[in-house]
Amino acid sequence: MSYTLTIGCGCLVYVASHPRTKIVHTRIIERRGGDCRVRAHDIGVRPQLWELLPDPDLLDVDDHVRAFEGVDTPAECR
Ligand SMILES: [Zn+2]
Repeated sequence: MSYTLTIGCGCLVYVASHPRTKIVHTRIIERRGGDCRVRAHDIGVRPQLWELLPDPDLLDVDDHVRAFEGVDTPAECR
């Protein structure tokens, strides 16, 4: 199973994982993003695993906050 992923810097990363275990065995930069400022990002280079994580700036923080709204505070915490 393989797919491509655009990471935070704009580079396109090719990711291949085992069809059964889903363990990623290959990840390489397939196309460099036009705005990418990471010098290490060249075509064929293996990006760091953390670079594949979603950009925190793009996450909808409100959704995370909402998930905690209405949750009762346990009596021992009051
Ligand atoms: Zn990049």
